[in-house]
Amino acid sequence: MNISVVGTGYVGLVTGAVFADLGNDVVCVDKDAAKIEALRAGRMPIYEPGLEELVQRNVADRRLAFTTDLGDAVRRSDIVFIAVGTPSKTTGESDLSAVEEVALGIARALDRYKVIVNKSTVPVGTGDLVRDIIARNRRRPVDFDVVSNPEFLREGSAIEDTLRPDRIVIGAPNQQVAMTLLELYAPLERPMIITDVPSAEMIKYASNAFLATKISFVNAIANICDLAGADVTQVVKAMGMDPRIGGAFLQAGLGYGGSCFPKDTDALIQTAAGLGYDFRLLRAVVEVNRERAQRFVALMQKVLDPLDDRVIAVLGLAFKAKTDDMREARSVEVIPRLLDAGARVRAYDPVAMPNAKTLFGPAVEYCASSYEAAEGADAVAIVTEWNEFKLLNLERLRGLMRRPLIFDGRNIYEPERVRRLGFEYHSVGRKPVYPT
Ligand code: NAD
Repeated sequence: MNISVVGTGYVGLVTGAVFADLGNDVVCVDKDAAKIEALRAGRMPIYEPGLEELVQRNVADRRLAFTTDLGDAVRRSDIVFIAVGTPSKTTGESDLSAVEEVALGIARALDRYKVIVNKSTVPVGTGDLVRDIIARNRRRPVDFDVVSNPEFLREGSAIEDTLRPDRIVIGAPNQQVAMTLLELYAPLERPMIITDVPSAEMIKYASNAFLATKISFVNAIANICDLAGADVTQVVKAMGMDPRIGGAFLQAGLGYGGSCFPKDTDALIQTAAGLGYDFRLLRAVVEVNRERAQRFVALMQKVLDPLDDRVIAVLGLAFKAKTDDMREARSVEVIPRLLDAGARVRAYDPVAMPNAKTLFGPAVEYCASSYEAAEGADAVAIVTEWNEFKLLNLERLRGLMRRPLIFDGRNIYEPERVRRLGFEYHSVGRKPVYPT
């Protein structure tokens, strides 16, 4: 099939590359000329494991191309995917301006029947909005359909998730257009759910809101464990063995960040309010999440009192492991609070350093490794759960530090082991341990 994918970010680029790998002819479109230039030169604008090889292979086989010319890409395609960003406005609502701009561009280039697929995360009702924009602005009286096909990939395993999704949701206005999408996805041999358009749009928000709820629920339980002297890791291990609960997304920590959960929970609260429903449960989920970084820094303040002039080695800057994405990362909540309290921050992340530098500027000292960051530090703070932090040589780390003290915002170490290695260790929802 001839496909165009508009928006070459984490979702669009991976989706386009995977469709090309399945044998389709794909054009990826972006309005960011520098991004398209880089992609044409074989450079990836984002870090995603396996992406570079996938893109290069399909470019070499002439199944994948890049352009800034939306009109040309649309005219060449039978199916047009919209995968542009839908960030939050200050009100918490989704900013749909990029989706609207693309819909307008599609309308102007529409020259024969096409299927327009919304892959961006958009509030219920956006399918109708896109339909209206195209219907009002098309230059020829040609027919088209608008489908909702929400994306569930996770950054860090985006290719694997796109090749082997748990489910493929297709919200279609009629059976015939649903069949076109079924055919496109058939080679993946994964479960497909066909719904109407509004239900598909809701499935995405309901799923992300539920996952965010699981995280905040466990973090609230961790708060109680802290007060009661219980161990949250043991609590969730047993909870997760109940198949009605499930073990995934039950880790206590600094809370969720990233480009999806914070904005999608905010948007669902706003959508519900707009429809006349006060989603109090989800408001509380957001509130619990908001407190996480505050509590973490307050704990450091209490233990190190004062924080002024203390050197803190922050390990992990990306919003989660295996990505360079800093959007709504917990480091962005933690580091400014530390700096405000007068602490000196030495930071390290395996891949997010370039993005971090543009965010924090010279206020932070950037280090080439965890060990370099720990040199002369009064404490190490684990903010992102990168595997390489789990595998650190803690004895070496301790030897470099001014004081053997770890604040673990992700519970990546076993307290007894760290204590035996001579550290004072504070984690989340577990008793602190002190060297003997
Ligand atoms: P992104 O910010 O990484 O990429 C969006 C791209 O769209 C950018 O390259 C931008 O230049 C381009 N763009 C913006 N306006 C454009 C226009 N008018 N014409 C052409 N290109 C335009 O975003 P992302 O993370 O890939 O997310 C895209 C959508 O998918 C969002 O709605 C997001 O909520 C959703 N989503 C993201 C993830 C994720 O993990 N990142 C997962 C599932 C769903």
